[in-house]
Order: sequence, then structure tokens, then C-alpha cells
Amino acid sequence: MAIESINSEASPRSVAILGSTGSIGCNTVDLIQRNPDDFVVEALTGNSNVALLAEQAVRLRSKLAVVADPSRLEDLRDALAGSSVEVAAGRQAVIEAASRPADLVMASIVGVAGLAPTLAAIRRGCIVGLANKECLVSAGDFVMAEVARHGANLIPVDSEHSAIYQVFETERVSSVERIILTASGGPFREMSKAEMAHVTPEQAVAHPNWSMGAKISVDSATMFNKGLELIEAHHLFSMPEDRIDVLVHPQSVIHGLVAYEDGSVLSQMGAPDMRTPISYALGWPNRMAAPSARLSLEEIGQLTFYAPDPDRFPSLKLARQVLRNGGGAPTIFNAANEVAVSHFLGGRIGFLDIAEIVEQTLEKVPSRRLENLDDVDQTDAEAREAAEELSTNC
Ligand code: NAD
Ligand code: MG
Repeated sequence: MAIESINSEASPRSVAILGSTGSIGCNTVDLIQRNPDDFVVEALTGNSNVALLAEQAVRLRSKLAVVADPSRLEDLRDALAGSSVEVAAGRQAVIEAASRPADLVMASIVGVAGLAPTLAAIRRGCIVGLANKECLVSAGDFVMAEVARHGANLIPVDSEHSAIYQVFETERVSSVERIILTASGGPFREMSKAEMAHVTPEQAVAHPNWSMGAKISVDSATMFNKGLELIEAHHLFSMPEDRIDVLVHPQSVIHGLVAYEDGSVLSQMGAPDMRTPISYALGWPNRMAAPSARLSLEEIGQLTFYAPDPDRFPSLKLARQVLRNGGGAPTIFNAANEVAVSHFLGGRIGFLDIAEIVEQTLEKVPSRRLENLDDVDQTDAEAREAAEELSTNC
């Protein structure tokens, strides 16, 4: 990981937020608005929520607002009529927003749709706050190679990875034995498999500790989120799969741990509020104030931990397998999960079908060696097609 950036000390820092209308995006907007002297906003992007995007653009005096859905351009133009905010629409315009000269880009689009814009930001060698874990799962080797080539600073926003990043002694990498990701266990932590067969999308998105977008909430409930995070951690910290552990910790107080060869284990703790890891990235390499609830260990009293159950939550075993297999396997794993989650949210398949579809897609689609990003796109498309077909036959 590169440490220096020419722009890291610039003040006010210019920022672009990809996916500003989502859960991470709104929290980022909130933090920027609380520190108006420290940031100027270069660009905001959203998928289709034009009203919120326009309102954020005016509130933050963004220079540019981009809606990814091209059919919403006129609506965005109307909503921003009379303002000085430039408007644009479409996939390419989102990539252009990421290419604007911002010191920091918050990559908070959900899914592999975030890959191309995130890469555009990385290629400018700026600071990239990375929430969009799917791009690392799908194309991790290519993303990390571009980070190194362009001297970008990739600062994890995912709470577990932010925690590990904060206690990972980069100057003593050889003394790191293992890294440990904690998991809340999600809303169905104590449910039997028979009960899980009947859960609804509404139950799945109601997370006990975190308030998040729909897709990651379902991923948390299936624990595919932890599988995606295992692959994300492998790329961010160059750790082999067998040196990354997952520990269920229902209170979500300890977010990640690093175990060193002398027996020391360092961890980062905090109340479960994404504004803490987001502010860590926004302010990096400095810390900035965040309004997250303060941690009272006295009130919490007890912290508990246990190993995840591989039978009720097969996602971790699958994630380890795809990481060991390498090639296009993680790309297929991610794409199949994205398709299955969207069908579950649409009420077309059951909760337990998600893991089934991912497993069957992995069996059906050949995992070829990935030579370049076009190979990633092709493997992603093949996996989507197979997962779509499996979903219709559910
Ligand atoms: P969300 O669904 O709330 O927001 C997603 C954002 O991406 C929205 O602004 C949406 O308009 C935009 N978007 C969706 N599809 C798009 C497309 N095809 N093209 C362009 N833009 C598109 O999601 P979220 O919960 O904010 O999560 C965003 C990312 O951060 C995900 O990768 C997630 O795994 C990760 N993450 C989220 C949290 C959290 O607390 N929400 C925590 C850790 C990591
Ligand atoms: Mg996380």
C-alpha cells in the first residue's frame, strides 16, 4: 500500500462521491456537511434517485451531478434548473465523474457496477475510500495492480477492513500471523435452517446492529457479506486465505483484529456506526471528528465470540474455495450472488436459494484464467446468465 499522496494534505480537500444517494453515500454527505470548511465537492453520482441527488448537489454546492440511468437526465436537469450544478447521465458520465480532479473519491456504488468508476479514480492516483467491496472480489488482482501502478491510496471503508488497516503495522508485515474479521452473524444468527427457508426480504433487510443498503443487508443475513469480505481482505492486506479468520461477535464492538508473532493481538473498537470508518477514510492520513455514538464498554458489559456455523451459513466455505481456486472463480461467486440477491429481494426466490444458486453457478460456469479486465467482464456476464437461468428454475 502506498503511503504518500501529493494531495493528501490539501485543504480544503476536494471530494467526489460515487453512489452519494445510498447508505454509505448519505453518511459521507452528512460528514462533509458537518465540516464545510474542510471539503469542496467536485461531483456526486446516483443511480436513479434524482430528487435526492439534486438536493444533495445543491446542499453541498457540488460542481457536477450525474445520474447513471440515462432516462433520468431530463428529470435531473429540471430538478437542478436555475442552479450552477452541471448535469450528466449514463454509465460513461459516472466514469467521467470519477475522473474529475478530486483529491479523494468515495467509491460507494453497490455491486460490480462500481468497478469501472473505481478504477478510473484509482488511475488518477488519488485517495480512494473503498466501500464497494464487490469490485475487489470480482477483479481484485487487477484493481490492486492499478493501485500500485498509479500510486493511489486505497483506504478501506468496510468497517472490518478499516479496523484492520488502523492496527496493521505495514512496516512489520512479516510479523503479522493472522488477521481476524468479526461478523455480527446477521438477523438470522440463531435461526434453524428450516426457519430460514421462510424468511422474507423485509426480515432479511432488518439488521440488528447496522443500518445499510438492501443488498449488503441480505448479504449480512446469508453471511455472504463475510465471504465477500474475506476475499476483500485477501487483496487489501495480501494475506493468504488460511491466515484470515472469521469470528462471530454479535455486539459488533470489535470490528477487526491483527495477530502478531509475539502473541499480541491489536484491534479497533467502536459503536457500530459507519460514520467512524467513513470519517477515517475522508480525513486520512489525519483523523476527523465524527458524531458516532461513543463506546461505553461498561454499559455493554460483555463481549462474546464464537465460530460461524458452516452448515447454516455455507457462504464462508464457498468463499474460501473460490479464493483457493483463483482465476475467475471469485468473479463468478460475486456475480451469482448479486443476481440471486436481487431475485430474493424481488420475492422470486427463497432465502436458502441464494447459496444454492451461487454454488450451482460455480459448478456450471468454467473458471478460466483472467488475463485482463475484458476477461473479468466476460466471466461476470456468463455467471449472470447462468444465475438468471437457475433463478427462473427455482
Ligand atoms: P446502497 O444500495 O444504499 O447505495 C448504493 C449506491 O450506488 C446508490 O447511490 C445507488 O444509486 C448507486 N448505484 C446502484 N446501482 C448503480 C449502478 N448500476 N450504477 C451507478 N450507481 C449505482 O448501498 P450501500 O449500503 O451504501 O453500499 C454501497 C457499497 O458499500 C456496497 O458495496 C456495500 O457492500 C459497501 N458497504 C456498505 C456498508 C453499509 O453500511 N451500508 C458497510 C460496508 C460496506
Ligand atoms: Mg463490513
